[in-house]
Amino acid sequence: MSLLFISSVEDPERWRDEFARVLPAEDFRVWPDTGPREAVEFLLVWRPERGSMKGFPNLKAILNMGAGVDYLLADPDLPRDAPLVRLVDKGLTDGMVEFVLHAVLHFHRDFHRYRAMQARKEWSEIPQVEAGRRRIGLLGFGHLAQAAARHLLALGFPVSGWSRTRKKVPGGEGRQNQEPGAKIAAGSLNWGASAPGVQAFAGAGEMDAFLSQSDILVCLAPHTKETEGLINKRTLARLPKGAYLVNAGRGGLTVEEDVLAALESGQLAGAWLDVFRTEPLPAASPFWTHPNVIVTPHTAAVTLPGPAALELADNIRRIRSGLPPNGLVDLGRGY
Ligand code: NAP
Repeated sequence: MSLLFISSVEDPERWRDEFARVLPAEDFRVWPDTGPREAVEFLLVWRPERGSMKGFPNLKAILNMGAGVDYLLADPDLPRDAPLVRLVDKGLTDGMVEFVLHAVLHFHRDFHRYRAMQARKEWSEIPQVEAGRRRIGLLGFGHLAQAAARHLLALGFPVSGWSRTRKKVPGGEGRQNQEPGAKIAAGSLNWGASAPGVQAFAGAGEMDAFLSQSDILVCLAPHTKETEGLINKRTLARLPKGAYLVNAGRGGLTVEEDVLAALESGQLAGAWLDVFRTEPLPAASPFWTHPNVIVTPHTAAVTLPGPAALELADNIRRIRSGLPPNGLVDLGRGY
């Protein structure tokens, strides 16, 4: 039986080495060298070529090497009879926590304004706001956002989270061991013992209330039919005047012209955009040169083959033993 690696962007050799370490007995193959198609049990995929996932009669699962599955669900040839599993691992989680903390602190401490002042050789002090007065709203309050919330709370920020279903926070349940390679259960919480708690908002009916108290809005939701264009003229107007937007979810969450208009009007004081409707971001995009925008090339959290291979191997073992994988995607929900 074999594992088939299919990616239009990832270097398979890095992954071959990691799989040789974590699952030495497996036949690791790289698309298009499929070997006998009936022997392929697992597809390891990240942005696979369109149509490449079909025609494997004995698939046990499709294991995505990233958290977002929107790209896979857009492929009409995605096999729907095998479980689709997203990546939930320490490398990706730690990367996103670092990114969110950095972006929030950047705007919170006015580093974007100091940078502009440096260019003008201007030496003056911007009055500092206490962390306790800067409200952080996490739009999408799943695995990655919850991990970021814990660290934001530790810095003293008031944190709220908005999700489809209401979250019970804080809770002792699901606290994890953070040793390298430690298992992280999808959706589990990792609150410090003294976490003061997150204000939990849920559903479309509570979105406006959530937005109205988000001085820095951090988007960490998946791109689905329901979240398409969620950040638009109407919802941006619900934010406090001069709020900041951080988008590390997907470009499809935003109506980009509306984000630009909000930046022009001062409704948004700044934005950190890591994801876009068209990637790579076209050279003509005004985001590249906007003085109040920071662009990063979809690198908020990248998959690290070391920790990811441990997680993928663990899911392979779980599925072979009849256990549910960690990070099972609900195809109907789209994430
Ligand atoms: P997750 O655990 O599945 O969390 C998704 C969250 O979004 C959940 O809280 C979910 O609500 C919420 N949500 C989904 N649809 C919603 C809706 N219609 N209304 C309100 N809330 C909704 O996923 P994750 O692992 O945290 O990852 C989140 C996303 O981050 C990924 O899907 C991917 O797009 C993005 N990402 C980006 C990068 C990057 O480098 N930029 C890296 C990794 C991931 P429930 O909790 O109620 O289900």
